[in-house]
Amino acid sequence: MPLKPIPDLRQAFGGTDTPILGFAAFSGTGKTTLLRRLIPILVGKGLRIGLIKHSHHAFEIDQPGKDSYELRQAGASTVMLSSTNRRAMIRELIPPTEPSLAEELRSFDQTGLDLILVEGFKRERFPKIELHRPALGKPLLYPQDDTIIAIATDDELLPLPPITQLDLNDPDRIANFVLERCGRNRWQAAFDHCNSEPAKLLPLDLVLRKMSEVIQPVEAVEWVNLKQALGRILAEDVRASLDLPPFSNSSMDGYAVRAEDIARFEALKVVGTAWAGKSFGSPIAVGECVRIFTGAAAPVGADAVVMQERVTCHGDTITVRDPIEAGENVRQRGSEIKSGATLLNRGKRVMPADLGLLASQGHADVLVRRKVRVAFLCTGDELRGVGQTLQEGQIYDSNRYVMHALLQQAGVNAIDLGVVADEPASIRSLILEAAAIADAVITSGGVSLGEADFVTRTLAEVGQVHFWKVAIKPGKPFVFGRVGPAYFFGLPGNPVAVMATFYQIVRPALRWMMGAPNPDPIRLQAICGNRLVKARGRLEFQRGFYRTDETGDLRVVGFSGQGSHLLTEMSRANCFIVLPAESEGAEIGDRVEIQPLEFLTH
Ligand code: AMP
Ligand code: MG
Repeated sequence: MPLKPIPDLRQAFGGTDTPILGFAAFSGTGKTTLLRRLIPILVGKGLRIGLIKHSHHAFEIDQPGKDSYELRQAGASTVMLSSTNRRAMIRELIPPTEPSLAEELRSFDQTGLDLILVEGFKRERFPKIELHRPALGKPLLYPQDDTIIAIATDDELLPLPPITQLDLNDPDRIANFVLERCGRNRWQAAFDHCNSEPAKLLPLDLVLRKMSEVIQPVEAVEWVNLKQALGRILAEDVRASLDLPPFSNSSMDGYAVRAEDIARFEALKVVGTAWAGKSFGSPIAVGECVRIFTGAAAPVGADAVVMQERVTCHGDTITVRDPIEAGENVRQRGSEIKSGATLLNRGKRVMPADLGLLASQGHADVLVRRKVRVAFLCTGDELRGVGQTLQEGQIYDSNRYVMHALLQQAGVNAIDLGVVADEPASIRSLILEAAAIADAVITSGGVSLGEADFVTRTLAEVGQVHFWKVAIKPGKPFVFGRVGPAYFFGLPGNPVAVMATFYQIVRPALRWMMGAPNPDPIRLQAICGNRLVKARGRLEFQRGFYRTDETGDLRVVGFSGQGSHLLTEMSRANCFIVLPAESEGAEIGDRVEIQPLEFLTH
């Protein structure tokens, strides 16, 4: 029998966006019992549930003696109790009126809810699951009520209705049905998107391109002293205010001469000395020279410096063995940089030489971007902090230290928010807290499809999932999104996957956030020293050790243990061996690409 379409609920219920699902049955069938079992399962799957229950006319939830009760008795017709933890509202309907579901929904705070379950209101038109126990001898509401989308029963139905039947005693199956049907909640869409592997795995280059389009740099800037500026990102071009060198000076210890005099005179007269920082004050005349030391200003008239090793001294004269060209051994004023030229470009990460350059121009401070703030947390019921005692099934939280170190090396302010249990509400509040205090949030664990993996769906609830799952190994379940203005990076839990996704994805993203350019990663060619095993499909970052052999070639050995949990192998490694998605591994003697870890740390 064809089913009549259910009317548009959003219109019927005054524009509510939250899915609504009812449970309809004759009384005594066990609606409340089922809901008591169903709600924890749905909550466990990350949903926030609202509930509206139709009750008998004179119900009372308040108690004599309570202030609220007394104040209602005194005549207040609407009473609201408010505290940090909850809010309750009691409204007297005067005169008594049969409430409609639409009306009730209008005064129901739906903020943050994924699904509203409704008990009662069975005559109203909204989707419902009918509960039915044939043994009670009551008729089915279906098909007279065409808004019923499934029947949950504890026995066989005859004749078999053309509609989904659920086992009334199997709340897990009912919960799955609810998720399938009421999947308008946001995480469900993200979930569906990712369930069809491998087609939906995003290649790394696409991921990086998408992120480069989305990510905006932190705009705030600050002046910092040169000694604090190492590793910071220049916020503006720095121009030279002085010529470099500021005056022409000697690059040698020797004698400042007029080059043309060497050929003309047997000997030159030494008329004085020029020291670094203490110039020879007057011009030199034809046939004269000045003893000069490295860095001393070349005297007026002198155009070259003869190395002291090429000179023979006789009292206050010298003889020069070989002819010399004008300009030799003199560092000309402005030859390195001219005043007004660009000394350093905006976006450059400040390195030791840059600090020297800035100082050479007399700068004490430099304008840099504010440091990016990154809050990070680890998820997992099994995690204990170092120093705590491990119980059965528990492990120490090692990612926390890895992540802290990676963030430090990346030059950001790392804010450690510790460990959070695999529990949706806690994950949610910690992620919100993190997003409120930082420019980016990084989590580890909980991004896969397991029952205890709440991170991706929480992200979808409190923010946006831009993409989930990348075609790399290790690190496939990586998720990227946004919570308010903060960027969100959900790393897998396995320690090697944490490192691989950090280096390959998070690190470039942080550089964009810092306002620094991202040059293509440098990869080197090396000769493979052992057989590398790989399946086609994902770009792999295998752990290996490279060295230069006797003939100057780079050779690399991949480790036999490539599990994403093997932190020991990551610790032994000095490079990733980068095997393309379509590769099926490598043989001894093949050329493979490597990425020294050293290259990834700044
Ligand atoms: P998950 O992605 O949450 O399923 O975690 C994958 C694996 O990584 C599990 O074996 C976890 O126990 C492990 N793991 C998750 N978080 C951490 C952590 N912070 N430190 C060490 N191991 C972890
Ligand atoms: Mg976990």
